[in-house]
Amino acid sequence: MTTDHGYPAVRMHIAGQWCQGGTGRTAPVVNPATEETIGEVPLATAADLDRALEAADTGFRTWRDTPVADRTALLHTAADLLTERAEAVGLTMTLEQGKPLAEAAGEARRVADTLRWHADDARRAYGRVIPSAPGTLLTVRREPIGPVAAFVPWNFPAGGPMRKISAALAAGCSLVLKASEETPATAAALVACFVDAGLPAGVLNLVFGDPAEVSAHLIASPVVRLVAFTGSVPVGKLLAAEAGAVMKPALMELGGHAPVVVCADADPVRAARGAARAKFVNAGQVCTSPSRFLVHSSLVDEFTDAFVAAAEAVVVGDGLAADTTMGPLANERRLRAQERLTADAVARGAKLRTGGERLDRPGYFYPPTVLTDVPADAALMSEEPFGPLAPIVPFTDLDEALRIANALPYGLAAYGFTDSAATAELLAARLEAGILSLNHCGGSVHEAPSGGVKDSGYGREGGPEALDAYLITKRVSHLLTP
Ligand code: NAD
Repeated sequence: MTTDHGYPAVRMHIAGQWCQGGTGRTAPVVNPATEETIGEVPLATAADLDRALEAADTGFRTWRDTPVADRTALLHTAADLLTERAEAVGLTMTLEQGKPLAEAAGEARRVADTLRWHADDARRAYGRVIPSAPGTLLTVRREPIGPVAAFVPWNFPAGGPMRKISAALAAGCSLVLKASEETPATAAALVACFVDAGLPAGVLNLVFGDPAEVSAHLIASPVVRLVAFTGSVPVGKLLAAEAGAVMKPALMELGGHAPVVVCADADPVRAARGAARAKFVNAGQVCTSPSRFLVHSSLVDEFTDAFVAAAEAVVVGDGLAADTTMGPLANERRLRAQERLTADAVARGAKLRTGGERLDRPGYFYPPTVLTDVPADAALMSEEPFGPLAPIVPFTDLDEALRIANALPYGLAAYGFTDSAATAELLAARLEAGILSLNHCGGSVHEAPSGGVKDSGYGREGGPEALDAYLITKRVSHLLTP
């Protein structure tokens, strides 16, 4: 069923049933390209959450005891369904989040592949046999940790949920997933693929609600054995503290403020084009988005000209229009943040090279914006913009660039451009980040781990490491000849 806007009706999924919340309370879903309300998202009551927890508890035992070959086969079926539905899921995503349709459908197809990758990795959750005394079998086993409470944001409406769902289900865990109330229908469309593939009731539960109420309720429940969160640093710290208070492990994928270091021997035009492409993906609302451009002073003019040209070539518009290459910000909060950060930088002496003012039309549109001469005390240099702002700052020696790059409490992604293998190795060794790309601005891939250091969080998603958080390690020594 869809609304007049072509947006699906959204429901929660609890204990194998699609449902509204107990009190019928809802919140509006807004299309960021038009500011129109396009749907309603149901909000869970405490009783709804308790039903989801009970279902996850039962579902866990069912799923844990399902042979791994059957689990893998079912996850592949869900991935195939998502691939078939990618265009429709992409349309839903564009309506509720704003990103261009091609980017949205591409995200749906990519996460189907993420699911396949983790499904196959489920078969390789090996333990080990350790040489021991005669008559003793000493083994290390890996077992699913139990029901997971997962919280995901709105910037990747398919990618965020699927990273948690695919790793948890591959490991043999059940979930209560609270997806974003701002992008609920994409999450529901993913869950529908698992339901239609035959996932047993209770294994994957989807809820929405007041984020603080839902997280406090789920984290405190003795049913939940792992807290998995993607979002901002302040909320991550809050949830990690709540998890710590009840001695639960947590997986924290938080924000960053990625430096791009362009060294004196790099090609400034190639670096600018690559960095600009990465900067404006998803309107800059990506945790690994390049966001501080540190350029050797000998290259800064050439780099800036090429970057500004690339920024001005971006076509900003409704994600449904065929020629759009960058959609609106996903919500009004992000629009206000871009306005505030730009005004603050300019007031402190930064020069606006392009952009800098919201578009004069309905929707949360803010253009690619390039600022030079940005002083160190501008908020933009320490606060993650999570939007299409690019401050360019010159440096004269590499130690200075590394000092600026590592000065913030964040440590998620970093980028470097250089023609020297030795300098590349130096950057690899010295940049404080969990994800480093050299001579390109690479995005996340499911076959390799992503995650942060310092305030950007802990734990890894992607790669074989993705299952670590969802598995416990059990030592079993078995005396065979008592
Ligand atoms: P926010 O801090 O209000 O919320 C971030 C996410 O956490 C949202 O999805 C929100 O629903 C959820 N959330 C908030 N309070 C929560 C709680 N008590 N329990 C559980 N979930 C809770 O910020 P926002 O305005 O939605 O997003 C802006 C900031 O969030 C950005 O500046 C960026 O730093 C960060 N962010 C990071 C990522 C990421 O991929 N790491 C994704 C989205 C947003």
